[in-house]
Amino acid sequence: MKHDENCIFCKILKGEIPSYKVYEDENVLAFLDISQVTKGHTLVIPKNHYKDIFALPSEEAAKLFSAVPAIASAVKEAFDPIGLNVLNNNGEPAGQSVFHYHVHIIPRYGRGDGFG
Ligand code: 5GP
Ligand code: ZN
Repeated sequence: MKHDENCIFCKILKGEIPSYKVYEDENVLAFLDISQVTKGHTLVIPKNHYKDIFALPSEEAAKLFSAVPAIASAVKEAFDPIGLNVLNNNGEPAGQSVFHYHVHIIPRYGRGDGFG
């Protein structure tokens, strides 16, 4: 696997930082966000380190996104939201704070749920 030793998400992948895992396969890990914008907020990452969508090879994107519907369904099943956002920030001005590509899965519970 291609890791960056200073990257928080690579440390999670290596087990150096604990996380609550939601899903894992050969290429992808999903875990709960440490600072949940809504209940069940989950992050999906490739096991290889790519800093953003511009660095992400399309075959890695294909592997990651092929797992996203099942992860979204598991989150929906576990937390019973009435909607769900799937989104990705690239670059600081777009809100990216961790520079290991990741997709947010954000369950939605209606007005006043804290997001948007
Ligand atoms: P970004 O702002 O880059 O799109 O999203 C980064 C996300 O990573 C944030 O929602 C932040 O709460 C989450 N995060 C940062 N550090 C950790 C950590 O150590 N563990 C977990 N589970 N999430 C983290
Ligand atoms: Zn990384």
